[in-house]
Amino acid sequence: MASNDNRSPGDFQKSLGVWLSLVVLMFCAVGAVQIDAHRPLPSHAIPPTAARVANTKRVPQPGADVGSPSVGPASARTDVKPDLSANPSKSPLIRVNVTPGGTASFRLEIRGPYSIHELGTSKRLSKSDSLAATVVLPTATGLKIGEKSYSTTQLEVIAKESAAIRVDDHLYRGAMRLFRRTDGLVSAVNVLPVEEYLASVVDSEMPAAFPAAAREAQAIVSRTYAFYQMAHADPAAVYDLFSSQRSQKYQGVEYIAAGRRLAGESESSRQAVAATRGIVCTYRGKLFCTYYSAVCGGRTTDGSQIFTDAVDILKPVTCDGCRDSEYHRWSVSIGKDEFLKAVQQKGAITKIATIRQFESPGSGKISRFEFSDGKKTVALTGVELRERLPAGVFRSPHFTLHQEKTSFRADGRGHGHGVGFCQWGARGLALTGKKSQEIVHHYYPGAKLEVKKY
Ligand SMILES: [Zn+2]
Repeated sequence: MASNDNRSPGDFQKSLGVWLSLVVLMFCAVGAVQIDAHRPLPSHAIPPTAARVANTKRVPQPGADVGSPSVGPASARTDVKPDLSANPSKSPLIRVNVTPGGTASFRLEIRGPYSIHELGTSKRLSKSDSLAATVVLPTATGLKIGEKSYSTTQLEVIAKESAAIRVDDHLYRGAMRLFRRTDGLVSAVNVLPVEEYLASVVDSEMPAAFPAAAREAQAIVSRTYAFYQMAHADPAAVYDLFSSQRSQKYQGVEYIAAGRRLAGESESSRQAVAATRGIVCTYRGKLFCTYYSAVCGGRTTDGSQIFTDAVDILKPVTCDGCRDSEYHRWSVSIGKDEFLKAVQQKGAITKIATIRQFESPGSGKISRFEFSDGKKTVALTGVELRERLPAGVFRSPHFTLHQEKTSFRADGRGHGHGVGFCQWGARGLALTGKKSQEIVHHYYPGAKLEVKKY
């Protein structure tokens, strides 16, 4: 899904309605002293494609899984047990690009003792008892941290404490790799055990007020997504995925937003990860990309319509659980001039005289339209229209269009691309008593759950 699928925290807060107050209450209850309630975003897992670090090339690999889904009877599915004996800190390291797209500079602060190494070598370049907030900048030959210059383009900061490194407004566990990119920007890549990473992903992606089974399902889905990205990273890439909704949201241990300190993980999210430790989804013996979105609107989307690496079990399934979301159904009006401009980006028509629609919302297929000025026609999909209008105008690619006096009205359903796991749907299923693994099977029918050993 294109970046226009991402939403602002404000968007989601509105969608939470009464749940927001519960989120706040929950976080107040479990958060550390002085750490305010965190307001996670629902998200759309998408493969990182655009941002590149240094001169590396990262291209998502098409999934190797093809063919018909082999959906077994429900009785064939037996719950797998998490590997509770596994040490989460021994799980494989994941590399998270926490400055998606690169940046001209970022702020670095290190609590407690640390050392700085040239990445890939055992060569220690400096060490100290702590680092007050300072700026990391690119130089002609390398990197500059505060007043100290390094004549290498790749550094690794190793802190003695587990959660000691702050980059801009986020505090992270693990180590931090610093890169000067060939385009003159700098990037920071957080490296930490995947099970520790997931504790923040669960809270960043799903409200604390959602039932435990839904959050455990999110942990399984996010773990699979993470391992899939790790397995498919280009060998030359310096990161596996992004910390934003381009991949899946990851806020770190804590972060500052609008001047407030917020918890990026909680006892509840750590429990959701621990309760599912090591569990991942596979299809035909391989990990697959577990796409997910906030609200499918009643029926999930055929994955092959949006993602080139969608496996064939990402087929539409019915979902009754997300009807409590504000975006289960939505409506928006767009001025005629603005809408015409968006259509004209695809083809030259002078006006919109008629609209023909193919694929109705709820079919599991994205909406398609044909606009005509009486002479020429322009065809656009719901995905393309979303990309051509400001982010958030169309909440999903599933809508109908109606011409009104001075505007076009879209009546739509869902929030996000709608492929795979539906986060609000998972909440609804959990409220009916479904367990986390049943929820995962509902959205990925034919998938198998397996346990990774660490
Ligand atoms: Zn749904």
